[in-house]
Amino acid sequence: MDFIPVNEPLLNGNEKKYLCECIDTGWVSSEGPFVKEFEQKMSAAVGRTYGIAVSNGTAALEIAVRAIGIGPGDEVIMPTLTIISCAMAVTKLGAVPVLIDSDFSTWNMDVDKIEEKITSKTKAILLVHVYGLPVETEKVLELAKKYHLKVIEDAAEMHGQTYHGKPCGSFGEISTFSFYANKHVCTGEGGMVVTDDWELAQKCRSLRNLCFQPDARYVHEAISDNYRFTNLQAAVGLAQLERLEEFIERKKEMGRYYTERLRDVRGLMLPVEKTEYADNVYWVYGVVLEKGVLADNKEMQQRLAKKGIGTRAFFWCMHEQPVYQNEGLFLNEKYPNAEYLARKGFYIPSGLALEKAQMDIVISAIKDIMRQLERKEIC
Ligand SMILES: *Cc1c(COP(=O)(O)O)cnc(C)c1O
Repeated sequence: MDFIPVNEPLLNGNEKKYLCECIDTGWVSSEGPFVKEFEQKMSAAVGRTYGIAVSNGTAALEIAVRAIGIGPGDEVIMPTLTIISCAMAVTKLGAVPVLIDSDFSTWNMDVDKIEEKITSKTKAILLVHVYGLPVETEKVLELAKKYHLKVIEDAAEMHGQTYHGKPCGSFGEISTFSFYANKHVCTGEGGMVVTDDWELAQKCRSLRNLCFQPDARYVHEAISDNYRFTNLQAAVGLAQLERLEEFIERKKEMGRYYTERLRDVRGLMLPVEKTEYADNVYWVYGVVLEKGVLADNKEMQQRLAKKGIGTRAFFWCMHEQPVYQNEGLFLNEKYPNAEYLARKGFYIPSGLALEKAQMDIVISAIKDIMRQLERKEIC
C-alpha cells in the first residue's frame, strides 16, 4: 500500500525549463532576472504596484510588520488560531499580539469580536485568511478606518482567492504571501510582500537585504537579516503562476468531490463551500469532529496514518503556546471556538497532485473509522 501524503505539489509545467535556464545562464542568486519578473507578475495578479520577493512567508510577515512601523508596546490584533509566524513577527519587535476567537463555521477570525479589543495602544490588525475562505474583510477595513489602524493582510493561503471579487493580497497597507510547498503557488520555500506604497516598498527592499544602503554599501544605519529570494525559486514560481487559474479550479473540484462523498458521514463538520463574499478555494481540505464524537484530531490522525493516509492537525492557538505562556502572555485567556477547532480539526490529503483514486481511498478510510467510533459510542 502506497502512503498518501497530505500534500504533493504539481510541478509538471514549465518549472524544469525555467530552472534549466537559470543553470545554463549561471543566474542562480537573488540578482537573477526571474526574481524581478516574478515580483512584477505576482503583484500585478493581485493589483498591487510593488512586489518584494523574500525567503519565505514568515520573513514576509516580519518585514511587513516592521516596515509598517510596529514597535515595542504596540498592540496588534490577530486571530488566535493561526501559524506562529503571525505572533512571532509581532513579539520579535517587542509588540503584543491581541487575540481574537474563531468563527466556528468559516474557521477565520470572528470579526465581530475585534472592536472590544481595540485600545489606545492598538496600532494594526493582522488580517489572516485561513484554510480557504477569506475573512470578512470589509468589517475589518471599516474598523481600521474608524480607529486609524493599519491593516496587514496575511494572504499566504489565498493565491487566486477573492473577497467580493477583489483579489486577496490587495487589502490594507501591505499584504504578504508564502510560496511554501503546500501553497497554491509554490517555490519550495519563498514569500512576497506586496504594497501600493512606494516608501513601504523601499523599506521592505532594504529590510530584505541587511539594510544595505544604496550609496554607502557596508555602512549600516539599521540592521535586518538576509531574507533574499533566489532566481531558482523565481523560476519555479513563474511556471506555477502561469497555471494559477487551473490550480484553483482543480482545488475547487477536489473540494466538491470530498464534500459530495463525505456529506452524509455522521459526526463530521465539513468546510463551508461558499459565503456571500467568496467560494472556498480549499487551500487544504479541513474537517472538524462534531461534539458527540469520542475522539480528538490526534486519534483520527493516528487511525488514518495506520491506513497509510497523511493528515495534519489544525493550527495550535497562540494563547496556548507554551513559549508565550512561559513569558506570562495570554494567561487565563479563553477562546472556546478556536480551542475546539485546534483539538478537533485536521486536514486530509489535498495537494494539487492528488488523484481521484487516492481521494476515494481517503474517503472510504474516513467512513470506516467514523463507523468504528460510532460503535464505540453505543457500547
Ligand atoms: C504558510 C503560512 C505562513 C508562513 O509561510 P512560510 O513560507 O512557511 O514561512 C504564514 N501565514 C500563513 C497563514 C500560512 O499559511
